[in-house]
Amino acid sequence: MWEQAAVFDRHESEVRSYCRSFPVVFERADGQFLWDTSGRRYVDLLCGAGALNYGHNPPEIVARVTGYLAKGGPVQSLDLHTSAKAEFLERFAGQFLGPGGLGDYVMQFPGPAGTLAVEAALKLARKVTGRSNVVAFRGGFHGVSLGSLAATTSPLLRSAAGTPLRDVMILPFEERGRPESADELESLLADAQAPPPAAFLLETVQGEGGLNAASRRWLARVRRLADSLGALVIVDDIQAGCGRTGSFFSFQHLPELAPDLVCLSKSLSGMGLPMAMLLIRRELDLWAPGEHNATFRGHNLAFVGATAALDYWADRRFVEHAAQLGTEIRFSLRDIVANLPYGVAEPAGRGAMSGLRFADARLAERVRANLFRASVIAETSGEGRVLKLLPPLTMATAEWRELAWKIGDVVVETAGRECWPADPEPEEAAA
Ligand SMILES: *Cc1c(COP(=O)(O)O)cnc(C)c1O
Repeated sequence: MWEQAAVFDRHESEVRSYCRSFPVVFERADGQFLWDTSGRRYVDLLCGAGALNYGHNPPEIVARVTGYLAKGGPVQSLDLHTSAKAEFLERFAGQFLGPGGLGDYVMQFPGPAGTLAVEAALKLARKVTGRSNVVAFRGGFHGVSLGSLAATTSPLLRSAAGTPLRDVMILPFEERGRPESADELESLLADAQAPPPAAFLLETVQGEGGLNAASRRWLARVRRLADSLGALVIVDDIQAGCGRTGSFFSFQHLPELAPDLVCLSKSLSGMGLPMAMLLIRRELDLWAPGEHNATFRGHNLAFVGATAALDYWADRRFVEHAAQLGTEIRFSLRDIVANLPYGVAEPAGRGAMSGLRFADARLAERVRANLFRASVIAETSGEGRVLKLLPPLTMATAEWRELAWKIGDVVVETAGRECWPADPEPEEAAA
């Protein structure tokens, strides 16, 4: 297993990262499980950082995609009309847009990555308003191409830009337990004497920033502020969307947010195929034909997968289950925290986009490592303090409960050792 891993050291760039935390070679995947080349089975709560909300290789979606290939459907077609795209457009609009849904939006397929949806959103917002400044929020992650990187606040990522990251003003995200942080936005913006912004760009629950969930009040306040300044609201729902927080969009319970532009990617294709989409409020669709393009702007395998994934959202039982799973996860996290000494950790996030925020990043990292030893794969975010637990939304509630026991045991045991450092640490001695 370790010899096999050496090939990556030898040939792959130093930039690789997740694989350093989970240094095995994976070979098979099914639902919530991954198997390495030695046959060891892991529960995958990394979930492609939210790109596998229906688990690995969901059979209904895989069957549709392989069926499309088998009958010789075009795979790459730039933005030519295809029946695969037609079916997706019609189904998506029917299920989520229009008067009974989000409202009147058109869909743009900017290319296969999330960052490309953000780039398109920023460019369009600037074009529509004729302004260049954009407001983003501390802890936000929007991708690493230069436009979106300017709105991403991780110092590590920003320092790699090598060129000034311009025209984005970073304001504090909502501070938990401080309702006045909504009131402060306006004065911070005024104090900065920045030119009026083209847009406010935000995640309703910050994924990479550490599962920070904005309140309804704060989000409504951002909308009002944007309106008062003639700015657009862009919701980056790349991680929090596609059902992660209990409904398809993370803001479905917040009609007052009414975003002008919505970025989607990650789980959109249903089975981890690259796909991104920008929803544009129809009257803001001021693109000239061909003004923004990409070779892979709408990949037919991804359209087929994404259409198949919409079946989940047409099934009441699935929709109820996804919400219920989120509630169960919150219960479990509260239980785990109750078994820890006070102040060690607290639940973070919303619904099935939740985890544990540790006071100490070193403890979070030890928990992550010990979970991996116990065959559970989960990442940390939020400067390493927040353990992110993203089970597929298809996981049965009973399976989650059993898993939560195991996670709880690992967390309590790791934290216990941390509190009495005189205790031996056999795993570390063995490592
Ligand atoms: C992952 C992510 C992106 C970037 O998507 P890529 O496909 O990695 O470019 C943007 N915004 C959010 C909220 C994300 O989670």
